[in-house]
Amino acid sequence: MTANRRFRNVIRIGPVQVGTYYDGRGREKHTAACTAPRCGFSTDFDSRAAAELAARTHRCSVR
Ligand SMILES: [Zn+2]
Repeated sequence: MTANRRFRNVIRIGPVQVGTYYDGRGREKHTAACTAPRCGFSTDFDSRAAAELAARTHRCSVR
């Protein structure tokens, strides 16, 4: 995840971090981002539940 966003409520599910932030218009966004080197998985979601689900179901291709 990019460092210039202010994430709140960051949790880790396996190698994936889920965090909540406000976008430039004050709307809540939720990001699931894999911390494994070279994985590159990072997706924004409108709902926290969707982001956490994506984190739980992420299958890291990097071993
Ligand atoms: Zn991954």
